[in-house]
Amino acid sequence: MNASRENIQALLDDNSPERLEALAREAAHLTRQYFGRAIGLYTPLYLSNHCASHCVYCGFHSHHKITRIKLSAEQIDAELKAISRTGVQNILLLTGESPQATPLEYLKEAVTLAKQYFQGIALEVYPMPEEDYHALYLSGADGVTVYQETYERTRYAEVHLGGQKKDYDFRWGAPTRLTRAGMRQISLGILLGLGPLASDLCALYSHLRELETEFPGVEYSLSFPRLRTIKAKSFAGTPVDDITFVKILCLTRILFPRVGINLSTRESAAFRNKALELSVTKISVGSRTTVGGYKDPDNTGAPQFDIADDRSAAETIRYLKEHGFDPVFTDWRRIENT
Ligand code: SF4
Repeated sequence: MNASRENIQALLDDNSPERLEALAREAAHLTRQYFGRAIGLYTPLYLSNHCASHCVYCGFHSHHKITRIKLSAEQIDAELKAISRTGVQNILLLTGESPQATPLEYLKEAVTLAKQYFQGIALEVYPMPEEDYHALYLSGADGVTVYQETYERTRYAEVHLGGQKKDYDFRWGAPTRLTRAGMRQISLGILLGLGPLASDLCALYSHLRELETEFPGVEYSLSFPRLRTIKAKSFAGTPVDDITFVKILCLTRILFPRVGINLSTRESAAFRNKALELSVTKISVGSRTTVGGYKDPDNTGAPQFDIADDRSAAETIRYLKEHGFDPVFTDWRRIENT
């Protein structure tokens, strides 16, 4: 299928059960053909909720009056240890966008601590210059997640009101800088419900095609977080319903048969279970979106968003095994990055 904006829009508008069924069948077949029933696992760890940016849809934005927390080295170590007990070997370290509160040296220290417990170390932090990404790579990080949120510039400006995240172009260029810095894995995505859907998908797909052409040695994956409530308060976006989301997951698989598709605990257990049959190849497990939430599960601090799948890591892993999936704790043995 030609991934033009018009074709994508036509697919999103087509509500015939036959079309949906055909899409689902093709996507499921391609996923099994290229990934078998292997499902990669990772767990996110929020290091800090300090943020100098003002994204109107986020629970951490700079105008929210929440208690700001940044984990100390000892606290990071305790969280990492608690997560590693689940057996998962891929960690995603997250912060808000505050180079002042969580500077490069802080992130390097967190990566160094994570190396004691995990094989795969990825980051979801503020976009950086290439030399800073390279410094993180040398300290042991392999991957970075950086979502454009929406590719539509007017909408981007409407919802990113302050801080570094206002800079559309610097964010857009992050994947290119990451590849040049040596990162092995890059995850791109859009925030579903934020911008015009067909144009955003079209732009995301073409961004990925450009990267694949220019930097073919990198492992790319895609994520489609849906806008979520924050402590039950919703943000005025355009909600993406389950059927539309299924179409997006299937279309993405058909266009990119070998690209990993990630799905987080923003989605319910029931939806995640279904999506695994279609196109999703990597999921987060046992997630907490509060800072310090692993060692202290009763932590009721401000979350970045509300979790919908609150199964423990063990419960999710049990589900995968009982349904014929192969949970993959690690597919990588860490080397010294040089
Ligand atoms: S989305 Fe990221 S940059 Fe924006 S307010 Fe939330 S934590 Fe900050």
